[in-house]
Amino acid sequence: MSLPLKTVELPRGIVITIMEMPGMTNRASVRSDLRECCAFCGDTDCHFDCDESQNDEDEIVYDYDGEEVLNETEEEVIERLKWNAAIDGLEFLILTSAESGIDVASKIFRRAVINALQKIDNYYS
Ligand SMILES: [Zn+2]
Repeated sequence: MSLPLKTVELPRGIVITIMEMPGMTNRASVRSDLRECCAFCGDTDCHFDCDESQNDEDEIVYDYDGEEVLNETEEEVIERLKWNAAIDGLEFLILTSAESGIDVASKIFRRAVINALQKIDNYYS
C-alpha cells in the first residue's frame, strides 16, 4: 500500500506535495519559480561566481539564451540574493505548515501566502 500524495497549488505557482503519514508528522516538499537566477549560469545563489558574470558592471554581455543583457551590478546581486532568501523563508513556513497538518489548501492560508508575497514584493522592490 502506498501512502497517498496530495498536491496543493498555491498562488504564484507555489506547489506543495504532501505525504500524509498516519499517526506521524507529514512529509512535504515545496517548489516554485519565484527565485531569481543569475542570467548566465541560472544559479539562484551566484554572486559573481560564474565566469560570465565577472564582466564589468553594466557591460552588455550574453546570457545563456544568447540574449544581450546588462551584467548585474553588486547592488542588483545583493537584491536578488535577499529576495531569494525571503522566498526561502516563506517556502520553509509553507513546508512546516503542511508537515504539521495545517490546511494549506484553505482559503485563509492562501490569503496569508498572497499577503506575505505582497509584503516581500513591497519590501524588496
Ligand atoms: Zn552565475
